[in-house]
Amino acid sequence: VSDRCEVLVVGAGPAGSTAATLFARAGFDVILLERARFPRPKACAEYLSPGVREMLTRLQLDSALASAHPLLVPGMDIVSARGATLRLRYRRDGEHLLACTLSRRVLDAALAAHAAGSGADLREGWTALEPLLEDQVVRGVRARTTLGERTIRASLTVIADGARSRLAGALGLALLPRWPVRLGLVAHYRGPAALDAGFGRMQVERDGYCGVAPLPAGVLNVAAVVRADAIRTAGIPAARFLDRWIEASPGLRKTLDGCERLTPVRGLVPIGARSRRAWAPGALLVGDAASFFDPFTGEGIYRALRGAELAFDVGRTALESSDLSAAALAPYDRLRTLAFRRKAAVTALVQLFVQSPRLLDYALPRLVARERAAGTLSLVLGDVADARDFLRPTMLWSALHP
Ligand SMILES: Cc1cc2nc3c(=O)[nH]c(=O)nc-3n(C[C@H](O)[C@H](O)[C@H](O)COP(=O)(O)OP(=O)(O)OC[C@H]3O[C@@H](n4cnc5c(N)ncnc54)[C@H](O)[C@@H]3O)c2cc1C
Repeated sequence: VSDRCEVLVVGAGPAGSTAATLFARAGFDVILLERARFPRPKACAEYLSPGVREMLTRLQLDSALASAHPLLVPGMDIVSARGATLRLRYRRDGEHLLACTLSRRVLDAALAAHAAGSGADLREGWTALEPLLEDQVVRGVRARTTLGERTIRASLTVIADGARSRLAGALGLALLPRWPVRLGLVAHYRGPAALDAGFGRMQVERDGYCGVAPLPAGVLNVAAVVRADAIRTAGIPAARFLDRWIEASPGLRKTLDGCERLTPVRGLVPIGARSRRAWAPGALLVGDAASFFDPFTGEGIYRALRGAELAFDVGRTALESSDLSAAALAPYDRLRTLAFRRKAAVTALVQLFVQSPRLLDYALPRLVARERAAGTLSLVLGDVADARDFLRPTMLWSALHP
């Protein structure tokens, strides 16, 4: 087993496995390290926007998607605590685009297997402990395996170890999540959920929100994001908190009436991740390790895939010119900003409304009555339209004027 490679990818989630696939396909010698062994669980609402489906096809990863047997879903209902409802559906040029849901256990295993099938040396059960730094340049990592500790040297290290990235922290790149701190609570349920026409439901309450979506094989994904102080004040375990929260919300109670929880409540970790910048000399950050804001607008996996593609573009040029310096890698930040900033602005705007029941009750009925604005917002949230389309002053006015 060689402990030297051209590209070392740390973390085999969607971001890392996609980056590993792209570098391996281009003929680079790639090692992909993963702490867990597949299949492994991942706390996620397991909803893939139509943009993710299109991106997986474009990256020729649709076979990985197909092997996860996704359930096609027409969209999502956003429902306020008082019952105002906006149906998000994705209609582009007269065509109805579909989102899908699936098991992340299966999808992530399939994407990692795809990376291995493309030539990456996938090593499960390897935990990266710290970056290997020489003259302020990342030259690989020190890792722990069942065989003991090993050093892996690489020309380029792609850091894809998720939201609480140990490597981004060690490089001084990680920033604290934004206030207020929110926690994600995710569980699978089974039963006769009252979901309308196969649409998912996003119920917004005062302390947070909860998505209920049908998964393949009659399972339901229930994913709540709740203010950490609400859970702390309640002073009860997270599973009881989720049960009580569902019970206290008439909308959720009705949706999940007669359903039973199948799994433990997972994902009790602060939502969100930010980094000072998404590179260090010798290294690029992708996926949640670089940044992740909030699951409400569902773009985590889209950003993981698109970010991997941008990291590949910048990384390949740097490797081909044997220049992994700050000057060679810094353009990656600019590309990420160009790719993500407008959607991030829409996400921030949506969050403003989600966090204020009065604003949400103001906006939802107006959007329902203004089909063009609602349609554009749906496409932007589904990652199939340029967010600029919704941010135009005329569009914002038509969406939100009294
Ligand atoms: C509650 C919740 C709901 C969500 N719902 C959705 C949704 O419905 N749709 C959507 O698109 N996004 C959703 N997201 C976001 C989405 O899950 C993430 O954006 C996505 O998983 C990011 O992929 P990633 O590859 O960057 O990280 P991850 O998927 O977290 O993968 C990181 C990998 O790195 C491995 N790893 C970690 N540390 C090390 C180490 N030291 N050494 C080696 N390996 C390591 C981990 O085991 C893991 O396999 C949700 C997030 C949360 C918290």
